[in-house]
Order: sequence, then structure tokens, then C-alpha cells
Amino acid sequence: MSETPEGSAPPTTRAVKQSLDRFLASDVFEANSRALPPRNGFGYVEEEARKVPVYHSCDVLVVGGGPAGTAAAYAAAKTGADVVLLERYNALGGLSTGGLVIWIDRMTDWSGNHIIKGFAEDILDRLPAEGKAGPSQDLWGSRDPVAAKYWGSRTSAFHGIVSWAPTIDPERLKLASQEMLLEHGVRLVLHSWAAIPIVEDGRVGGVIFESKAGRQALRAKVVVDCTGDGDIFARAGGEFESDIEEGDVHHSMNTGFMLGGVDMDRWIDFRTSDADQFNAFMALGRERLGFFQPPYVSWRKDIALFLGPRQSGLSALDVDDMTEVEIRSHRFMATHCEFFRENAPGFEQAYMLQSASQLGVRHTRRLAGAGKIVRSQWDAGLVAPDEVGVSPSVSPKFPVISVPYGSLVPVRLDGLLAAGRHMSCDANSHGFMREIPQCWLTGQAAGAAAALSVSENCQPRVLDVSLLQSELRKQGAVVREAAAVEPAA
Ligand SMILES: Cc1cc2nc3c(=O)[nH]c(=O)nc-3n(C[C@H](O)[C@H](O)[C@H](O)COP(=O)(O)OP(=O)(O)OC[C@H]3O[C@@H](n4cnc5c(N)ncnc54)[C@H](O)[C@@H]3O)c2cc1C
Repeated sequence: MSETPEGSAPPTTRAVKQSLDRFLASDVFEANSRALPPRNGFGYVEEEARKVPVYHSCDVLVVGGGPAGTAAAYAAAKTGADVVLLERYNALGGLSTGGLVIWIDRMTDWSGNHIIKGFAEDILDRLPAEGKAGPSQDLWGSRDPVAAKYWGSRTSAFHGIVSWAPTIDPERLKLASQEMLLEHGVRLVLHSWAAIPIVEDGRVGGVIFESKAGRQALRAKVVVDCTGDGDIFARAGGEFESDIEEGDVHHSMNTGFMLGGVDMDRWIDFRTSDADQFNAFMALGRERLGFFQPPYVSWRKDIALFLGPRQSGLSALDVDDMTEVEIRSHRFMATHCEFFRENAPGFEQAYMLQSASQLGVRHTRRLAGAGKIVRSQWDAGLVAPDEVGVSPSVSPKFPVISVPYGSLVPVRLDGLLAAGRHMSCDANSHGFMREIPQCWLTGQAAGAAAALSVSENCQPRVLDVSLLQSELRKQGAVVREAAAVEPAA
């Protein structure tokens, strides 16, 4: 085995200081060398103006069928709108299925209260028992050292507290997502890339999309941008931010993969029984592979999940960078499989089960919103007057975080809301607001808001928030009264 992946210079590993202000700190790698030669393109070609046939018109168009988009379409349909969801790939779930990000992060606060509910609860309830793995409800919030140790190595305990953060079967999640939307009358348009928004008088009125049928238009009264990368609001001229937290992993990329034929109980025993032995193993991995990542559990004991090695210095808005990550990640999968087979207890029979069909992008653009979640808000724990949901905080040091409706509304553009990992927040808060449950939360809020804007015949920015809050409560979401202040646990 070579010291570093073929074609790569030795990577730089950033020493990242673990801090309570960061959601997840870990190894982040940077490498200068590239698998692809430089491009030779220059100049321009002219595109002729043309008439584009209208494929369909609807009340609410959701662009992107990831966690946020699925929740948005569901909530908009439940609120009574005629909804279309457009997705570039062949299934729903985005990163939570196609990206193999099958670890659904915390939905409980540090006392074990279930605070991300609504769509989150509905969809997880639909998964069969064999399609999810996590602690039973009676353990949520438990500080029992034995339970916390057990679930700590199985994605569901942090800071010595058991939480609701299960791992799921991506195929079950794809199926549940599509069935929930179809039952509520959502029209699905898969295999279609939203190329450009239709903007008339500063208002987004749909998108032009590309498919095997060519270029077609989808008209809508309100568009919910759930592309994760703000494709629609950015191309419509909406303002956005793209600064990053160097010490966090929120800006790094990788394509996830799974190794099958493993025994995760044996691996966890090895990982947790002797710290010196495990540290020696990690040191050997870093020395041999350069880019190195230990696995997480999955919903099955015979499948190991790898959500790294995490690479920084690359942009998910640059097609060469995206290609580079894919090339490297497929190589990492092979080098990790070989290394783990040779050196990791429980991996002797490991094989390359599956790499993600969707690139693992954590961050590109974030909406410049009428409201915003920022680090300076975390300590006070105030309830925003326009609260549409509540997020768990990064550590027991902080109270829960109020999610304002304004964080989904562009400062200027009309006819559009944005939910999911490109919502309006600062780079620090993005560390947790990009997680799947939070994307479900913002998606549900944006979908319901879009539908209400249609029924109230108003722009989303002037929607009566109390209507939205009561609709979200009706749909099972946790939305508090503005006077309430949550003390730190
Ligand atoms: C490697 C990695 C590990 C992570 N680990 C965790 C974790 O452990 N727990 C956790 O909860 N979260 C984790 N996350 C974060 C989480 O997965 C994402 O932030 C979340 O899935 C974002 O949801 P979303 O709906 O905003 O965007 P996405 O999941 O990116 O979905 C966007 C959807 O829009 C579609 N789309 C995009 N552009 C277009 C277009 N122009 N036209 C049509 N369709 C389009 C995409 O195909 C996709 O289906 C991780 C992320 C990564 C990358």
C-alpha cells in the first residue's frame, strides 16, 4: 500500500481545538495536488434566445428533495397548497439518503425533551423498526454512565447525555419520503435540474429546468429553495454569505461510503476498551493513508459508515473541485477497506458495499435573510417573536436555540423562501443548523409559510407569523410563546 493516495501530495492535517462553541471538531485535511489536469477553456459561446414550454403551474414549487425540501413539500401540501417538488436525482432524501448521511443528529434537548418534532417525528415513525437504530425514549436525557457509554459509541450520546439521534436505513427513508408526499398529493418531478429562476419584477415566479425532455418551465406562486446551495436565490440575484468557521468541519467535503461484512460490536469494543491501543491504531492509519477516518455505526451491525476523510480548501460550486472530491473519495474507500481489513478488529471480512451517489457538501452559500441565527444569541436563550421551531444547542452550557421565520426570508427577493443548510445564520451557528433535523424543521416552516402566503394572497415577507406558528403547532412542531425563556440544563 502506498503512503498516500495515488497522485496526492501528503495532506496537511489541521490541528483543531475542540471547543464547546463548535458542533463537531475533527480531522480536516488539505491537499494541494490534483488528479485532474488544468482546463484549457477560454472565450464565450452565444446562446440563442428561445421560447420555453411551460411544463406545469402550481401554488408552491419546492426545488430540491433533500431533508428540507421533503419537509417543505409535505408541510405545504398539508397546509392546503398544490405542490410540486423538483429534484435532480432519482429519489428523495438528499444527503440523508443519496449522500449516505444516515446519522440523524440530535432532536432532543439536554434534558431529553423531544424538541425537533413535526415532520421529523412523522417521518421517523414511518420507518419500520428494522430501518432505524437508536435509544428508546425512556433513555433520552439519561446521564446514566453505562447508557451514555453504550450510546456514546453509537451516535446517540454526547457530553455524557443520551439523546435521540438514530441511524437509519437510507432505502427506507427514500421510500417513506416519497410515499408521504404522494399521499398528500405532491407532484414529484425527478431527474430534473433547476437551471435558472424565472424572475419578474423582483419576484421569483418559478424555474426553468433541464431534463432529458430538454428545457421546460415550472411556474409557481411561491418557490421554496431547498437546493442546499442557494442555487435559486443566488441566480435570482438574492444576497448571500459564504464565510466559514476554520475550526469546524462545516465547510469540508467528502463523499460518504459504507463497508459491509463487518462486526461493529467488536470494533466498538476495540475502540473503547483501551485508549492507548486505539490511539496507536489511529496514528498508524494517519501515517499509512495520510487522509484517515474512523467509522461510525449504522443501522446494522454488519455495516460501517464513513463520513470522511473531510477535505477543506475545495468549493462545491466549482465542478473541478467537486470532481476532485469524488476521485479522492473513491480512492479513500479502497484504501480504508484494505487498511481496516488488515488492522481493525471486526473488519477482517470487510468489503466495499456502497459509495454515496451524492457528493457530501456541508456548506456553500447561506442566505442573507431578513433574520439570522448568530453565535451572540446562544447564551441568552431568548425566544424569537417569529419563532418557527427550536434547535438543540451544541452543549449543555447553552439553552436551546430559537429559530426565527426571518432566517428563511431573503432580505430583498419576493416570491421565495429558503430552507435547509443554506438558511440564514452565521458560520458558527451553521455548524448545527445544517444538520438533518434542523433542515427538516426549517423545511417544514418554509413549506407551511409558502402555502399560507398563497392562501393569504401575500408575499412571504409580510405573512402574519401567528398564522404560521399556529399551523406549525397543528402539524406537531414545537413553537413556543415569545415570553418563555429556557434555562440551561
Ligand atoms: C459528509 C457529511 C456528514 C454529515 N453528517 C451529518 C450527521 O451526522 N448528522 C446530521 O444530521 N447531518 C449531517 N450532515 C449534514 C446534513 O446531511 C446536510 O446538511 C443536510 O442533509 C442538508 O439538507 P438540505 O435539504 O438542506 O440539503 P441536501 O441534503 O443537500 O439536499 C438538497 C437537494 O436538492 C437537490 N438539488 C440541488 N440543486 C438542485 C438543482 N439545481 N435542481 C434540482 N435539484 C437540486 C439535491 O439533489 C438534493 O437532493 C452531514 C453532511 C455531510 C456532507
